[in-house]
Amino acid sequence: MFHEEEWRVRRFGRCTTSSSQDAWFPDPARGTEGLAHQRRQAAEACARCPVQYECLILALDHEINEGVSWGIWGGVCARDRRQAIEHATERHHGTPDARDVAQDLLVNLSPQAVDRIA
Ligand code: SF4
Repeated sequence: MFHEEEWRVRRFGRCTTSSSQDAWFPDPARGTEGLAHQRRQAAEACARCPVQYECLILALDHEINEGVSWGIWGGVCARDRRQAIEHATERHHGTPDARDVAQDLLVNLSPQAVDRIA
């Protein structure tokens, strides 16, 4: 379930006006190519979204504190967010701060990163 704050952020996001909102929740039943296409669509829109940073923080905060990980948030898929949290946990020898993890992820996001997500 979304929290109220998550809805508020996404309300200003590009995903709310996209005609293909499914892209943010890739469906494994679509197969490897379909999945890659969905992820690429979402990541490209997120890269131009005015609330990308806030969106990614919310997702990371949710995952760090509640262990729930799904969908693409801030242009980053669940697998990459989990990996970033694991690396930050090792680096800090404890629970990382969502803002630090978000900054690390966004610094590394580039067109190449979008290809890697797909
Ligand atoms: S960053 Fe992406 S998922 Fe987040 S609100 Fe913007 S378009 Fe939606």
